[in-house]
Parts: sequence; C-alpha cells; structure tokens
Amino acid sequence: MNLNEAVLLKQEQMIACLQENLRIPSVEGTPEDGAPYGAEVRRSLDHALAAARKLGFRTFNVDGHMGWCEYGEGDEMVAVLGHLDVVPAGDGWTVDPYGAEISDGKIWGRGTTDDKGPSIAALYALAALRDTGLPIRRRIRVLLGCNEETGSADVKYYLSHGGEVPVMGFTPDGEYPVINGEKGIINVTFSRNYHQEGPLKLVAIKGGSAPNVVPSHAYADFECDEETAAQICKLYASCIKFSRRPGGFRVESFGLSAHGSTPGLGENAIGRLMLALDNLPLSGELADAIHFLATKLGMETDGASAGIALHDDISGGLTLNWGTITGDAEKLSLKINYRYPVTFSYGDCAPAFNALFAEAGFVKDAEGCKDKLYIPADSELVSSLMKVYREQTGLEGSPKSIGGGTYAKSIPNLLAFGPIFPGDEIREHKPDEYITIDNLVKNAQIIAYAMYELAK
Ligand SMILES: [Zn+2]
Repeated sequence: MNLNEAVLLKQEQMIACLQENLRIPSVEGTPEDGAPYGAEVRRSLDHALAAARKLGFRTFNVDGHMGWCEYGEGDEMVAVLGHLDVVPAGDGWTVDPYGAEISDGKIWGRGTTDDKGPSIAALYALAALRDTGLPIRRRIRVLLGCNEETGSADVKYYLSHGGEVPVMGFTPDGEYPVINGEKGIINVTFSRNYHQEGPLKLVAIKGGSAPNVVPSHAYADFECDEETAAQICKLYASCIKFSRRPGGFRVESFGLSAHGSTPGLGENAIGRLMLALDNLPLSGELADAIHFLATKLGMETDGASAGIALHDDISGGLTLNWGTITGDAEKLSLKINYRYPVTFSYGDCAPAFNALFAEAGFVKDAEGCKDKLYIPADSELVSSLMKVYREQTGLEGSPKSIGGGTYAKSIPNLLAFGPIFPGDEIREHKPDEYITIDNLVKNAQIIAYAMYELAK
C-alpha cells in the first residue's frame, strides 16, 4: 500500500472529522480558565486532540494555547503547523458558515481552507503514514495552533514554555509551491509637535485605517479668514477636493486602497494630501513637517526618497506603505508599514529611516518588527517539499517569495507549503469559504509524502 492509497482509505473518516470541527465557531472569544482564546477555540482544540488520540497518537495540550500529536521516535522532530482558530464569518454567506454542508463536491464553511481543512488533513496524513509502516528516523509532530488569526500568541506561549523547536517543517497555511522567502516587516509610528504661524491654521488631519492598508481617503481641516478660504478653494487638482467649511476650508484627497504588502497596486491618499498641502502658503514648523513628509514619502511606495529603496532578485524591492495619519493644531502622528527584501535585515533600513525622521524633528513612538524569513532553494527543506509537490501534482513550479507574513514566521525552520494550488479560487476570510473534496484529499496526500520525505 502506498501513501496515496493509505490516505484514500481514510477519506470518509477525515471528511466527517473536519465537518465536526467546522461546526465549532472557533473565533477568538473572551479568555477563560484553560481557554485563553475563548471557550469555542478550546472546544475546537479538544475536538482535534480527541480525534488524534482516536487515531492512536500521543497528544499534548499546551494549557489551551495550542496542542500537538506526535508519531515516531528519534532525537529530531519535524513539524506540520496548522491552526484551528478562524476569522469571524462576516456577511454575505449563501450557506451556513458553521454548517459544514457538502454540495457540488465541496465542503462549505469558515475554516475549510484556512486552516481547519489542512490541519485535519495533517492528522489523517500522519495516520496514513503510520499505516503504511514506512520507516522514519525523525519524530513527526502535528502542531495545532489556536491564535494564528489574531496575533500568534499561541506559538509564543509554546516556545516560551519549553515547546520543542522542529529541525524543519512546514505550515499548510499559505499556498503551493513553497514560499521560501517572506519579507521582513516593520511597523513604525512617528509624531511631531509644532507651533503654527501665518494665516492658515491646521486644526485636524486624518487619513487611513491601518498600517497595512493603502489609505483611500484623507483630509485636513484649516481655519483662516473668509477671503483666504475662498481663494484657496478655487485651487483644483485631480483627486483633490478643496471645500469651504465654517471658519476655513477642508482639503480632501482620494486614492485607491490595496493591501499594505503591495502598495504599488494602490494610490496613497495620505501621500496625495501631503503633496497638495505642500503647495499651500503654510509657514513655520508645520510647513517644515509637511514639506518633509511630501518630499521624503509623498506617494512613493519604494522608499527611494527616504533612502531605503533596497532590492534583491529573490524577493524584489522594499515596499513602503504610509498607512495612517492623525493630528490637530499642535501635533501629527503617522504610522508606516514597510517590508524589506529577504536578503537584507532590519539594520540595513530601519536605523537610516528612523534617523531621517529624527533629524526632521519627529519622535519614534512605537516600532514593531517581524524579521524576514528565507530558506534557500537548495536547502534540504525546500528541495524536499518541491520534490513532493512536483511528483504529486505533475506541475513544475518554483519556490517563491512574498511580501506578506505567514504563520511560518512564528516558529524557526518552517516554511509555508499549501494548501492553495495555482489557479484556485481564494475564499479565505471571505463569505462562502470552501474546500473541494479533491483538494482536501490531495492536500492530505501531499502532506503525508512531505512528512515522510522530511522524516525518513
Ligand atoms: Zn490561516
């Protein structure tokens, strides 16, 4: 019996198990004793661990933060990391998001692809591998996370409480083929105080919703005398609107939203607002601040004028998204999300970027970093996963680099591998999420072969 056949023998059981878990709405909830991410997430974890025990594996519950099951012997361990928490269902479903209905060759429900389907598939892949009796020299651990969608505190808890670090492994929470590079991500908040002089007084400025979203709207409210307001509002620029308001005027800008990892696909409304404000007869410290922001950031998405336009052939250029701005008559504050290419590090961009802002009178209020992830294409992990992918799908494909961050970054030595195949419709985090039964089975087979390849 080969691994593909062993997985097929488990197909009905695997589908039933997935359906049971899909009916548990494991969205993060109020923490309770033993349930740090809420009762439903804990219920989902308990269900999956019970299923693993029924399959004959030793299991461990990491205080409700996550759980794992394991098979095999040996000093070294390889891991498959999935997660059981889901994002809220949201509106627009044409089926019950927690009904786990099957129709049209598809299983429908929140979590079917992200990431309950692949997680349950990993349990049955492990069982299939055991049933074939193929010899392995490393232990194989299926890690079941509970907090991927809202901060990955689960894995932090696991690692800080003695959780074993795998020698290598993968998370089926991305896409095929292998993602072997993920840019480093820096989120930084700067602010600056100012005194204002002259006829125009900025009283409010606002734009954007989050650092990792390209803002599509921003505005700035000014106070001034009637005549000045009337004069300025005659100005016109495309995608910029000047309008009168009591005691002054508003400058409003419009752009195009996009994900913060691909700012080039959007048009930054805050940057556009800055370019417009830079033409106003402002004076003093506010004028300095606006001029700095307009000329060093503006609508650029590669950090060129800020002096950090790093680039490599593996993952492309640094991307920069100016996500939000807020401010009033005395102070403004901005949040920037930028992502550096995988062959560079924090030290290659952040110190220079921070110094540039410091020189312009800005204070760094906060900074958070997620280091890049990069495992070369000729490594054992990447070549093994690519071999399995090619054999199982008949597709060539090559490892890829992305600007986003996956669950793989949370534990050393992991890469994202599956579950989405090239050309698949992507329904994660959207209404009517589904996984086709064919894809569920194919994923289980690929996971089984990948487990074997890494552990043999
Ligand atoms: Zn996920």
